[in-house]
Amino acid sequence: MISYQSSSEFAQAMDALDPLAPMRNQFYFPRINGKEALYFCGNSLGLQPKSTEAALLQELEDWKNWGVEGHFHAKNPWFPYHKILTASLARIVGGNDSEVVCMNTLTVNLHLLMVSFYRPTTERYKIIMEAGAFPSDQYAIESQVRFHGFAPDDAIIEIAPREGEHTLRTDDILTAIETYKDSLALVMFGGVQYFTGQRFDMQVITSAAHTAGAIAGFDLAHAIGNVELELHNWNVDFAAWCSYKYLNSGPGGVGGIFVHDRYAESPDLPRFAGWWGNDEATRFEMKKGFHPARGAEGWQISNAQVFQMAALRSSLSIFDMVELPTLFHKRDELTGYLKFLIDNIIADFPELSYTNITPANPFERGSQISFLVGKQGRKLHNYLTDNGVIVDWREPNVVRIAPVPLYNSFEDVFRLSEMIRTYSSYLV
Ligand SMILES: *Cc1c(COP(=O)(O)O)cnc(C)c1O
Repeated sequence: MISYQSSSEFAQAMDALDPLAPMRNQFYFPRINGKEALYFCGNSLGLQPKSTEAALLQELEDWKNWGVEGHFHAKNPWFPYHKILTASLARIVGGNDSEVVCMNTLTVNLHLLMVSFYRPTTERYKIIMEAGAFPSDQYAIESQVRFHGFAPDDAIIEIAPREGEHTLRTDDILTAIETYKDSLALVMFGGVQYFTGQRFDMQVITSAAHTAGAIAGFDLAHAIGNVELELHNWNVDFAAWCSYKYLNSGPGGVGGIFVHDRYAESPDLPRFAGWWGNDEATRFEMKKGFHPARGAEGWQISNAQVFQMAALRSSLSIFDMVELPTLFHKRDELTGYLKFLIDNIIADFPELSYTNITPANPFERGSQISFLVGKQGRKLHNYLTDNGVIVDWREPNVVRIAPVPLYNSFEDVFRLSEMIRTYSSYLV
């Protein structure tokens, strides 16, 4: 355990010891009023790697010079383009290469995977999910339920925090799975909750879902690139993610999916098919009859989104340079430092009723700390923005701060906390 100190000297000393400190220089930081911003929104949109521009220009250049021939003659041929991302993504999610493919966008992928993995019957049709899930997930799940002729109120079981608590207890999730085991079709959870920053125990949830005879799927939007994932070993059935948050692929970046290898050869599993999911050997025969490619690639629909994938590739090359345990170790130290500083402020200004709602246990969180800031919140957020800080504000009263271990420093975290402290002292 580190004994944290609230001082610039301490933060600088931590930065001097940080093996990942040089990675910061791989990214552009936005500028506010001519000064480099303090950026804490990597959970919303990751920063731009300096290498992304060249990666995109390469594809433009190849398109310029090759036209359609770029599919085979581009520096990175477009025909198999998605494959150059697979190994990097597979390492990050803890899957085999055959279990991972990048394609489409997150909510689209959730729908496509539910087509295959939410196949309700009159006996088994319920879905367990977290209350207050990201709206897109709520809409996707509700519309899937309706699509199959069920009523969301009946079919969707939402697990909420207990009275007076902000996050879920694993026991309550497991109890619900047990309670509904005879009618449960799917447990669909976030990996990390976008609002509270709570990390769920995906392994335990998966195992309970399977014991109940249900499927386990995860939305990894806030988990991928942020927390340890062992999807294959945890036996997760399917997962989907976006790449513009911790994976830094830029706005609208390409999403991805995981489908466990036990479904790798399941041509009979219903799915919405397209030519890119067809077995490569026969894809260009342009014949009738869909033959899904083996593994996750068999869920592809359209040809590779080369520009989006080029952007993601530049960021994944940075991840490739980093040992994941080193990244996660820094995450815990950096987030732990933020928690320490925020908790001090909370204790020093009781009259402001600040509340940290992110779990204290590092195993139950990732890089994000969410804290409730009461009625003054919007103004605090404005004050931070005016002073060159980019943090996320969610109505009605939450500030979400994500110190990202790939590019944030201990000094960033200390400077942010000093601004929150200064503003708070104006208020009292
Ligand atoms: C960011 C996020 C989304 C966004 O979905 P898109 O389809 O990429 O627009 C969906 N769900 C969760 C949980 C998210 O955090």
